[in-house]
Amino acid sequence: MPFFAVPKKEILKTMNEYGLRNPKASVADLGLKNVSAAYWNLSVAELVEEVIVKGEGELTDFGALAVDTGEFTGRSPKDKFVVCDAETENSVWWSDVNFKFDPEKFDKLYNRVTAYLAGKEVYVRDCYACADPRYRLNIRVVTESPYQSIFANNLFLRPTNDEIPSLEKDWTILAAPGFKADKDVDGTRQHNFAIINFTKKIILIGGTGYTGEIKKGIFSVLNYVLPHHNNVLSMHCSANIGKDGDTAIFFGLSGTGKTTLSADPNRGLIGDDEHGWSDTTVFNFEGGCYAKCVNLSAEKEPQIYNAIRFGSLLENIEFIDGTTAVDFDNISKTENTRVAYPIDFIDNAVEPSVAGTPKNIFFLTCDAFGVLPPISRLTTGQAMYNFISGYTAKVAGTEVGVTEPTTTFSACFGKAFLPLHPTKYAELLGQKLEQDKNIRVWLVNTGWSGGSYGVGSRMKLSYTRAMITAALNGELDKVKYDTLPVFGLQFPTSCPNVPSEILNPRETWADKNAYDNKIADLAAKFVKNFEQYASQANTEIMAAAPKVAVVA
Ligand code: ATP
Ligand code: MN
Repeated sequence: MPFFAVPKKEILKTMNEYGLRNPKASVADLGLKNVSAAYWNLSVAELVEEVIVKGEGELTDFGALAVDTGEFTGRSPKDKFVVCDAETENSVWWSDVNFKFDPEKFDKLYNRVTAYLAGKEVYVRDCYACADPRYRLNIRVVTESPYQSIFANNLFLRPTNDEIPSLEKDWTILAAPGFKADKDVDGTRQHNFAIINFTKKIILIGGTGYTGEIKKGIFSVLNYVLPHHNNVLSMHCSANIGKDGDTAIFFGLSGTGKTTLSADPNRGLIGDDEHGWSDTTVFNFEGGCYAKCVNLSAEKEPQIYNAIRFGSLLENIEFIDGTTAVDFDNISKTENTRVAYPIDFIDNAVEPSVAGTPKNIFFLTCDAFGVLPPISRLTTGQAMYNFISGYTAKVAGTEVGVTEPTTTFSACFGKAFLPLHPTKYAELLGQKLEQDKNIRVWLVNTGWSGGSYGVGSRMKLSYTRAMITAALNGELDKVKYDTLPVFGLQFPTSCPNVPSEILNPRETWADKNAYDNKIADLAAKFVKNFEQYASQANTEIMAAAPKVAVVA
């Protein structure tokens, strides 16, 4: 038992359970009968002390806690399973993102995890998802490591201390990073796993300490529940709101700029990653942000930089030698260094994080080929086509000599988190665009300009911000547009605070032949990827496909 946590904040005590909780609840209900102690809803300060005493982390000069998440510094999509039973068999889209798990194997593995936790301390956190109270989902997060409890506190919505004594959980997350599965016994792929059981309402995580599994586990749950039962479109997007109350949402795959671009000093932040779009609202699922730290600077991203302070959780960063100052440029552990903080650490966060339905939708893509315009305005058909395609291009890695980017097509800009078939989400978006013809949809390339990776360079963040501001202000409604060949995208020929030369990607390439070849290549990849959805797409959507020259 830690010497400090118990006497200080002890409110309820039953045997070895400490802290504020619903008196009717016990970890024994979760099968955790023999833990040495269960600490319920400790304050962040108490948890920070726990982490430090256990040697799992250290404080940085700004007062933030830095931890290493161990073997995994990112999600492991191949080890994500969904229990296949009467609830899910005919509703879940069984695919390369939703692997089946046997219900009996789940029960056995759950018991093995609880047995593993016998004699150990666990941390219990009551939190919830969905800022729109109509969809609120109470979550009880039980973790082996205290830093995971800080993460759950920072990323999910936080009930008040008055609410906790009467809180009933809807879902449970049990996460034991130190438990290693035996694939032959447990039916997993390897030693780590994240398994969703929709019938029992449990997410079981083991063998990995990467906190993103906790966050994206609940996202996957909501991506099932909301469209399936509530007719709400769940979205992998950030959202913010202007002074006039106009909502903007920013869809995009990892690294495309959702978190960075939603933090805008002139707009209120609704959320940086996961939202729902109901009949009347856009609402955050979460209560915090999970920002990338690579190359972070106070100059370029002041709001995120200032959120790194006591209470925030840094993951897998390195220190400047001999100091407690974070070296944001050092990515020797992983490129995916992160900081998790409660949303109110951003000055102009909107709480409760609920806004009206959007006026502007941005699809962010980080096109490392440098082919797509930095901003273009989409027709409804193009919007649907691009939503279903979910394109981005990544640089293949950091190995020496690897310079060719690889395309990623991830339906709805979040295929990895979709338990239902992508057409379900596309249908809902289509209905919403149909209902409100004034919604404008933009495609923003936050990636390369002036050539592909290796030749060109990444679009300046200040330019991308200026283009988004101009779109939001209506300034891009007043300018002339040109049409990109092959893709048929309409891009502005001028934009305030952006050099006009960069608006047409072809003009930024020294070698026009190379551009023409590259755009044809990329178009062919779009068309090939879309084949799997073509039978479900209407003529308007199909008309928005890039026009690939047919070789005779
Ligand atoms: P995830 O889903 O993994 O959280 P994300 O979409 O939130 O990803 P960000 O965290 O916003 O992605 O990452 C964008 C990264 O790209 C940041 O590190 C940002 O500094 C950098 N960046 C560089 N140039 C630009 C640009 N023009 N627009 C947006 N981001 C840029
Ligand atoms: Mn993000």
